[in-house]
Amino acid sequence: MRAKDQLLGAHTSIQGGVNAAIPLAQKLGFTAMQIFTKNNNRWSAPPLKEEEATSFREGIAASGIKFVMAHDSYLINLGSPDDEIFNKSVNAMTDELERCEMLGIPQLNFHPGAHLGEGEAFGIKRIASALDIIHERTPGFKVKSMIELTAGQGSALGYRFEHARDIIATVKHPERVTVCIDTAHIFAAGYDIKDPVKYQEVIAEFDCVIGLERLQAFHFNDSKKPLGSRVDRHDHIGAGFIGLEGFRNILNDSRLFRVPKILETPKGKEQLEDLENLARLRELIEV
Ligand code: ZN
Ligand code: MN
Ligand code: MN
Repeated sequence: MRAKDQLLGAHTSIQGGVNAAIPLAQKLGFTAMQIFTKNNNRWSAPPLKEEEATSFREGIAASGIKFVMAHDSYLINLGSPDDEIFNKSVNAMTDELERCEMLGIPQLNFHPGAHLGEGEAFGIKRIASALDIIHERTPGFKVKSMIELTAGQGSALGYRFEHARDIIATVKHPERVTVCIDTAHIFAAGYDIKDPVKYQEVIAEFDCVIGLERLQAFHFNDSKKPLGSRVDRHDHIGAGFIGLEGFRNILNDSRLFRVPKILETPKGKEQLEDLENLARLRELIEV
């Protein structure tokens, strides 16, 4: 793939239903988008209707949107030591995978989870066991479970590449698991993608620890918080501590042209801010 053909877009509102995201994303010129498939602050939602799903799949196929990913509910914690929350989380993520499968969405992004004081080794095992239950309940599904790397706030796991590696190494179906790099998250976690030399080391480390072939999406966010702060605050592209330099490093790395890049930067209802952020990104592409 050529540098100019990289898929770019943003998280897109489903106000009015999942199908409402398609014309909005098209109007904004996205070639990639992320959606929630339901209200992300709720545990459950009415099931998707088959007509709605068919219309979504046909709408995407007929659009210029070449990649769609979903982000799961913020309530889900696959690492929870509390059995009730753990079971609710497993049920909710199973439902989200089913929604994605119906919609033809190939990647369901999720935050690995928080151990809430039980320790990282416990958390990793707990998350892997949750994924095993979820994957056993959804045999043959095409949609992947995509681990989002995190800033490491509180007891959240996923702020080290090794956490993703260990979850993938523990699950029974590693072929169902992919990884998403959120630039703001990994920067806050201490991975310097701004400095061009250190950037090369970070990508080499990812390749060595996880393997670049697992990397199937980027969340492109600048960070309001400095390197290693472990605090997750998204900023507009170029306005934060990563700066344009960091995004230039990624956008001109031919190994990563194939990986879709999705904004999760602050925006209003019309998402016009996304246009400005995307224009800034396109200017950084050199070749
Ligand atoms: Zn996220
Ligand atoms: Mn993200
Ligand atoms: Mn975040």
